[in-house]
Amino acid sequence: MIYNKILVRFGDLTLKGRNRKMFVSRVVNLVKEKLDGLKTTLEITHDRIYVAINGEDTNEIIKRLSYVSGISSYSLVVRVNTTSDMKEIKEAAVNLINEQIKGDVKFKVESKRSDKTFPLTSLEISKEISSYVLKQCHNLHVDVHNPEETLYIELRNKDTYLYLKDIKGMGGFPVGVAGKGLLMLSGGIDSPVAGYLAMKQGVEIECVHFESTPLTSIESAQKVIDLVKKMAKYAPKNRIKVHFVPFKELHMALLDNVPESYNITIMRRMMYRITSKLCDKFNALCIVNGESVGQVASQTLGSMNTINSVTNVPVIRPVVTYDKNEIIKISRMIDTYDISIKPFEDCCTVYVPKSPATAPTIEKSVLFEKSFDYESLVDLAVENVKTVTIDVNSDLDLSFLGLEVRNVL
Ligand code: ATP
Ligand code: MG
Repeated sequence: MIYNKILVRFGDLTLKGRNRKMFVSRVVNLVKEKLDGLKTTLEITHDRIYVAINGEDTNEIIKRLSYVSGISSYSLVVRVNTTSDMKEIKEAAVNLINEQIKGDVKFKVESKRSDKTFPLTSLEISKEISSYVLKQCHNLHVDVHNPEETLYIELRNKDTYLYLKDIKGMGGFPVGVAGKGLLMLSGGIDSPVAGYLAMKQGVEIECVHFESTPLTSIESAQKVIDLVKKMAKYAPKNRIKVHFVPFKELHMALLDNVPESYNITIMRRMMYRITSKLCDKFNALCIVNGESVGQVASQTLGSMNTINSVTNVPVIRPVVTYDKNEIIKISRMIDTYDISIKPFEDCCTVYVPKSPATAPTIEKSVLFEKSFDYESLVDLAVENVKTVTIDVNSDLDLSFLGLEVRNVL
């Protein structure tokens, strides 16, 4: 293959000063981490990274780069020396086209030069290269308005870069740049997508999962681990911490003490209380979850108010305005969908009340909560959290949770 580099462009360049420096150094670190183990080498300039391919499989490099947030796009490029007669550029252009473009194709050349002392203007460069290439490659026809292929040429001081395609990157901000949040991760479709979108916007995540075995099955804990393995490829160092919260005692106490129609509301208030305390414990700045307006009774705006009122920690809901199809599309893209749809119960799917309150009030919630000593149960759950770190290849034995391995009661 003729390509010798991959040109990586950073995302949001509206950032200035210190923020921009931090952004760039984070993207560079992420790229280094993802390409670890390959023979690639990096060259870093103020606005881009050049990855030298060094004989590695380009598909593998591109796949790994697609997991880096903060990259807007990348291109396979040919780098040659810039010479004033453009001889090497012309030859490289013809070789690139012969290798990559087959059959009759509408074509144009687009040039940029950052070295303004170069004797020709961008337009003149395009014209000269184009007429040379057309003489050599008879399958090309110029069409500047509707080209099927465009040869991009960038002259930068001593080096010139030639390429045909821009591959879209993940976009957003480098994960970690915005600080850390705790993702409430169920076994469902929405929360892994919420976690991915938060990471994409720069929020590093640790996950919190409420498990109620044996009210729920051990498989739901396994599902969480499998989901995190998929999400870890987007995380710094390819790993994510998961905090398993023992939720059974609190769950049973509320089932015993709270009227059925308020079960879900109070259960979710407890989850929010515990997650807020865990934010303190683990120095996280926000809660992230997979709530989406109107999806179920607990996600009407009225419910959200009543549930949210137990905490002052900001709650980020990346999929709040997405419909299910939009969420599913992303979950397929990040490869969590097939795991999420496995039919195991988690603590939200058992004991679903027949008619949950769609407009639960804060006053009634507070009243029902007075009927049992939830505060000590909340503290106990926080104290007994079990934390594991999961990476893309983790093969974790669930016995660390000390759960009773049996099916749903
Ligand atoms: P998902 O929303 O992820 O598809 P779900 O639909 O089963 O799962 P909901 O009942 O819609 O979950 O709950 C809304 C959000 O609450 C979830 O997206 C998740 O962030 C959080 N959540 C629910 N159950 C749990 C749990 N057992 N552990 C941690 N977070 C949970
Ligand atoms: Mg949901």
